[in-house]
Amino acid sequence: MKAARETLQSWLHRPLFLATVAAALSTLLLLAGSLFVVMQQTQQRESDLMNAQGERFLQRLEQLFGQLRESLDDLQNQPLRGCDDEMIATLQQVSFNYRFVYEAVYIDSRGTCSSRPRQSGLSLAHAPDLRGPTYSYWLNTTTEPDENRAALMLGRGNFRVATSRGHLTDVVDLPPGSSLLVVLDHGERAVPVLGSDQYWPPTEPWPPKNRNALQVTATRLIYRMKTDSPEYQLVLIAQRNGFHIPANAWWMLPTSLILGLGIGFLVFLLARQRQSMDVELHGAIRRGEFQVLYQPIFDLRSRNCVGAEALLRWRRPDGSLTSPELFIPMAEDTGQIRQITDFVLQRLFDQLGQLLRANPQLYISVNLAACDVMVPRIGEVIARLLARHRVSARQIAFEVTERGLIDVLVARDNLQSLRDVGHQVLIDDFGTGYCSLAYLQTLPVDCLKIDKAFIDALGHDAASSGVAPHIIRMAHALQLKVIAEGIEHEAQASYLRSEGVTFGQGWLFAHALSAVQFIELITRGRRRLGRRLDDEA
Ligand code: C2E
Ligand code: MG
Ligand code: MG
Repeated sequence: MKAARETLQSWLHRPLFLATVAAALSTLLLLAGSLFVVMQQTQQRESDLMNAQGERFLQRLEQLFGQLRESLDDLQNQPLRGCDDEMIATLQQVSFNYRFVYEAVYIDSRGTCSSRPRQSGLSLAHAPDLRGPTYSYWLNTTTEPDENRAALMLGRGNFRVATSRGHLTDVVDLPPGSSLLVVLDHGERAVPVLGSDQYWPPTEPWPPKNRNALQVTATRLIYRMKTDSPEYQLVLIAQRNGFHIPANAWWMLPTSLILGLGIGFLVFLLARQRQSMDVELHGAIRRGEFQVLYQPIFDLRSRNCVGAEALLRWRRPDGSLTSPELFIPMAEDTGQIRQITDFVLQRLFDQLGQLLRANPQLYISVNLAACDVMVPRIGEVIARLLARHRVSARQIAFEVTERGLIDVLVARDNLQSLRDVGHQVLIDDFGTGYCSLAYLQTLPVDCLKIDKAFIDALGHDAASSGVAPHIIRMAHALQLKVIAEGIEHEAQASYLRSEGVTFGQGWLFAHALSAVQFIELITRGRRRLGRRLDDEA
C-alpha cells in the first residue's frame, strides 16, 4: 500500500507524465464540449426547419381548403343536376378556374361523371372521414404514390372536388420517412394525407398541455399545427437522422488537439519549474542557505519583550531573499518541510539555547506545517533538543494554521501531547480560513494569533470597526490568550491594549531580528527599541 502510494507520488512529480495526462484530459474535455455544442446546434437547426415546414404547410392547406370550398359552392349553386355533357363541361370549367382543384366529380344514384377524361381512381364509395354541417372531408382518397392522385377530397351535396398530392408537396420538400397526418377522434386516429403510414398514437408521451408546437423525441420530430376546428389536428412527422457530426464540424478534433497540447505544454513548464524549485530547495538545505530570524513579541502594557517568533529566510548565493510564503507551501507539498522544521528547531537551540536557559520566562514560538502536526514525530524531536540544551518545554510554543489540516482529530491528539509536556499551542492567522471557529472547538489551544489583515482593518486611527474586537471578545470568553500580529501604528497598539489584548508583534516594535540582535535586545533589557531594527540587518 505504502509502496503503491510512493510510486504514484513519484509519477505525479514527473513533468512529462503530468503534461501527458493534462493534454489527454483537456483534449477529451474540449472534444466532448464541442460535440455537445454541435449536437445542440444540429437539434436547433432540425427544429427550425420543421417549424418553417409546418408553417408553410398550414398556409397552403388554408389556401387549398378555401378554394375547394369555393368551387363546391359554385357547383352547388348552378342549376345542373345529372350526368350529361353539359355537366362534364361545367365540372371541367370549375377545375380550370380553380388552380388547386385537380378533379371535380358529380355523383348520384344513376352514375358518376368527372372533369377528367377517365376514371381517376378516387375512391368515392367509402364514408367521409369528417362530416361537417356543410362539407364532408375525405382525407386520404388513395394510397397510390402517384403525384397526381388525390390526397384530399371535399364534398357538398352531389359534388366532390379533390386536390392532387402535387399541390401539397410543391410547398415543402418532404424528406423520406416524413408524413402529414390528420389526427381525428380526440387524438386517437391518424389518417396519413401525405407520406408513409406512421404508428399512432405516438409511444412518446403526448403532453396535452405542452404549448410547444414541436415535440422532439429520440427518433422523430412531431409538429402539431393549430387548426380552427377542435375535431381534427394536423400533424407533421419527420424521422430524425440520428446524431451525425456535420461536415463543417471537422475543425473540432484538430482544435481540441491543439488546445489540449497547449495546456499539456503549460503544465509541463509549470511542473518543470516546480521540479527545479524542488531541486533548489534540496540544495539550499545542504548548502545552509536558510537562516532563522526572530521577531520579538511584546507585552502591550509594559512594552517588555516576552518572546519571539522564529521566522525562516532563504538567502540565495546571489544575496536575494525568497519569501517563506513562496517556498514553505512548496516544501509542504514535497515533504521537505520536515527537514526544514528540524532545521529551524536545531538552529533555534544552537543560537538561543543559552539565552533561554538564562531567561526562563522567555519563549520562542515555532511555525509548524500541517504535516508536522499530523504525526507525533515533532514531539520526539523537541524532547531530545530540550533535554540536550536543558531548556524547559514551557519556553517553546508551536504555531499551527488550519491550512492543510487533513484529519483534525489526529492533529488534536498530537497537539494535546505537546501541551501535556508543557508546550503552548497557538492558532496562527486566526480567522483567515473558512473553518477557524470549527477548529477552535476541536483543537486544544492556549492562544489565538489575530491575523494581520484584521489588525490592518483597525486603521491608523484604530476605529473600533472590523472583526478584531469580536475575535478578542470571543478569545476572552474562551479564556484564551491573544497575540495581535502585524501592529504597525501606535494607535493600533493602544486600541488593542484598551480592548484587553496582552501581547503583540509587529513592525511598530521590531522587524524580525538576527539571533545576535535578539540576544542583544534581551540582555540589554531594552524595553522597546529606540529605532526599529531591520530583519536583514
Ligand atoms: P506568520 O507565521 O503569520 O508570520 C508572520 C508574518 O508577518 C511574517 O512574514 C512576518 O515577517 C510578517 N510581519 C510581522 N509583523 C509585520 C508587520 O508589522 N507588518 C507586515 N507587513 N508584516 C509583518 P514572513 O516571515 O514572510 O512569514 C510568512 C509566513 O511564512 C509566516 O506567516 C508563516 O506562515 C510562514 N513561515 C515563516 N517561517 C516559517 C517556518 O519556519 N516554518 C513554517 N512552517 N512556516 C514558516
Ligand atoms: Mg506564525
Ligand atoms: Mg500569522
